[in-house]
Amino acid sequence: MSALALRTGALNLGQGFPDEDGPAEVLEAARQAISDGVNQYPPGIGLPVLREAIARHQQRWYGLAVDPATEVLVTAGATEALAASILAFVDAGDEVVVFEPAYDAYQALVARAGGVLRTVPLRFPDWRPDHDELRRAVTDRTRIILVNSPHNPTGAVFDRATLELVVELANRHDALIVTDEVYEHLVFDGAPDFEGHIPVATLPGARERTISISSGGKTFSTTGWKIGWVTAPAPLVTAVLAVKQYLTYVNGAPFQPATAVGLDLPDSYFAGAAATLAAKRDVLAAGLTAAGFDVSLPQAGYFIVADASGLGFSDADELCRRLPELAGVVGVPVSAFVPPASRDSVASLVRFAFCKRREVLDEASARLAALA
Ligand code: PMP
Ligand code: GLN
Repeated sequence: MSALALRTGALNLGQGFPDEDGPAEVLEAARQAISDGVNQYPPGIGLPVLREAIARHQQRWYGLAVDPATEVLVTAGATEALAASILAFVDAGDEVVVFEPAYDAYQALVARAGGVLRTVPLRFPDWRPDHDELRRAVTDRTRIILVNSPHNPTGAVFDRATLELVVELANRHDALIVTDEVYEHLVFDGAPDFEGHIPVATLPGARERTISISSGGKTFSTTGWKIGWVTAPAPLVTAVLAVKQYLTYVNGAPFQPATAVGLDLPDSYFAGAAATLAAKRDVLAAGLTAAGFDVSLPQAGYFIVADASGLGFSDADELCRRLPELAGVVGVPVSAFVPPASRDSVASLVRFAFCKRREVLDEASARLAALA
């Protein structure tokens, strides 16, 4: 879809990457690290300065005491953390439970490991998983329950009861929990009963079986740097590191100390980033609504899912292929985030990214109005 946007000159609300740089201190720290000669292979587990900053971050935000020497692993983005975790623990025939729609890497990685995907549907517009469906999906064949909250593509944040059920089921069936929390800091204020982001590892009974995954790219708007990390008990980190050793071995030396600078930024940076993004969400939500889409307002993340059926489009795949020509905008059909058998359930849904400059969102809104 990004290639389509480039080719047609359409506004790219497809792929989720910010079109503005993140904090100046973080960018400057990368330049400085290059000048200081941090340009050779770092340790496989990551540079100590970043592992220590990650441990401080887990303590500061979540009250989790993490040993930077053994319980943290730096990866080539959250993507490699997911790949190495799945390849480390999923053998042929093992089941992995995911909520669908799901970030597209999950399905591919589980297939690569020879695993079998078991899906729990999230339904437009509130995306709350049905607890009985979740209970039925988890069995003694389950190796991993893969959680993604805040969630891509829906922007949903799972509530405490759902996450507690995940932990209970993982314990009952001796499964691991892999929790992709890359949007942990991009959470918007919501309804009075909205608790915000709850890291799975903070729940009772979760810690010893949970691999938590984060992304510096998301938190500091440096998606091209590909610095992610895993925090987990030492034996799990050792297993994931053994896989990383032969995926990338190491990654991103100068971007590691720079990401560490970001993690130590004051609370105001994190609050400001979320507030800025919330305002962008509101602009695009209003634009989509005015254009005739039925919108599900996300609680977090980069994306908003909109139903095009009110505009007379029942096939979002086709709409997304034609959208550059119809309106000069690119979006991604939600069908990209479900296995082929589930496409009908999301047939008219489109994901739009709002992590873009205000003028881009205003222009996109004006262009989409032409659809009505
Ligand atoms: N998980 C989710 C849910 C994502 O949205 C993304 C980024 N699009 C990733 C993982 C990958 O993160 P990274 O760029 O750090 O590899
Ligand atoms: N996670 C971002 C997205 O969902 C970008 C990563 C990708 O395009 N693979 O759009």
